[in-house]
Amino acid sequence: MFVKRKLRMKISHSSSLSADRQASGLFNKIYLQMKKLSILLSVVFYTVTLTAQNEALQIRNIFDHALKSDVAYNQLKWLCENTEGRICGTPEAAAAVEYMRQEILKMKLDTMYLQASMVKNWKRGEPEKAFILSKKMGRIEVAVSALGLSIGTGNDGLSAKIIEVSSFKELELLGKNKIEGKIVFFNTPMDPTLINTFSAYGGAAGFRTGGAAEAAKYGAIGVVVRSLTLASDDHPHTGVMHYQDGIKKIPAVMISTKAADLLSSYIEKEKDIEFYFRTTCQTYADVPSNNIIGEIRGSKYPDKIITIGGHLDAWDIGQGAHDDGGGCVQSIEVLRLFSVLGIKPNFTIRAVMFMDEEIAQRGGQKYAEIADQNNENHIMAIELDRGVLVPRAVAFSNYDKDNVNHQKITELFMPYNINIVKGGGGVDIGPLKQYYPNIIFGDLVTDDQRYFDFHHSGNDRFEHVNKRELQLGAATIASFIYLIDKLGVN
Ligand SMILES: [Zn+2]
Repeated sequence: MFVKRKLRMKISHSSSLSADRQASGLFNKIYLQMKKLSILLSVVFYTVTLTAQNEALQIRNIFDHALKSDVAYNQLKWLCENTEGRICGTPEAAAAVEYMRQEILKMKLDTMYLQASMVKNWKRGEPEKAFILSKKMGRIEVAVSALGLSIGTGNDGLSAKIIEVSSFKELELLGKNKIEGKIVFFNTPMDPTLINTFSAYGGAAGFRTGGAAEAAKYGAIGVVVRSLTLASDDHPHTGVMHYQDGIKKIPAVMISTKAADLLSSYIEKEKDIEFYFRTTCQTYADVPSNNIIGEIRGSKYPDKIITIGGHLDAWDIGQGAHDDGGGCVQSIEVLRLFSVLGIKPNFTIRAVMFMDEEIAQRGGQKYAEIADQNNENHIMAIELDRGVLVPRAVAFSNYDKDNVNHQKITELFMPYNINIVKGGGGVDIGPLKQYYPNIIFGDLVTDDQRYFDFHHSGNDRFEHVNKRELQLGAATIASFIYLIDKLGVN
């Protein structure tokens, strides 16, 4: 028994020895695995850090280059000074197309081509004339501007009693009785309490686009619309308007905000005051024009396309510096920055200068149609059409605050005071949606407080563009595309 016990002890001792050995072998194995894992983890961590550092460096590089370059600024200067009034269908618009074509050719991109489309052909004619006809003060000249697609008044102009309204509801309440044979004056200012001036614009733009048709339903013979700006100045604005089928077409003009206030004060003081205006604008048969496209082919996924664009046409009463020459030169600046910095994108990056955004958006429609006909694969489209002003944010439609890549983009933009937000889209890229329902839209969000001081007015001139704001916008959007291209669109 003792022997047995001893033996058992021996056995148990030897077994505990072997267990120790086993345990220490297992420990060593685990230790080695852990060591391997920690080496692997530190390599991964190092690579991730390095990649993040590389990305941060590349963005710094893009900003440095953009902020030291005069190229885009000089292109905008040329465009403003030499193609002023380039509404679609004009020789100025054609000259702008040719200039941009040459500029893109100089950049030696992978591809440059034009995309033909027919465009609207509306001409303003002779300078507009307008007067408040006061019984006490006589004729007081005021600044007005015909609305795009409006008919003219004819040679003699139009004079009639003028009636002020502030809403379509008010128009309806006045009815045919009070409106017939008169000129209707829509005097609704943009809401100054809205911080987003685009929302304020949207809230009042209906009087410009639809005022003539609504007033004509009650027998009005012409309309005068308060300019869409928060500024008090003497620059009448313009913009497109639309008639309705079956409703009489009547002439429409916009009046400067200062003149609108003056007219309103006269209407208040003198009952039955009259107004006169004369316009000779007319819509002619459509004419051919072009979108211009420059492209860097993707190195990994050449078939997947990211579009960045602005519109080259601009209202005929200004130079189209903010709206939207700036967006055009910033779009091609993205490609130039990629070129000079040797950035080879994974996806194909296209800069598009659209034609006829202001009147009928034919360029944007044509771009989408051709994309579909050619079976192209469009994954993202970004529109730059919010003025050359301090960039505040990049908006894109699938932004998700919980997405790791989007968090990374947000962090990388922090040193540049740029937010990343949900949003995006635009009139020119909009038609792509019908062919590419999953496309991601984006845009550059600018500080828009002063945008409507310029938009669609004679005040939209090169001297009101700040070079640094133009450069910052181009650098922001180039950096954003660089990151999206690296991290993927989702
Ligand atoms: Zn625009």
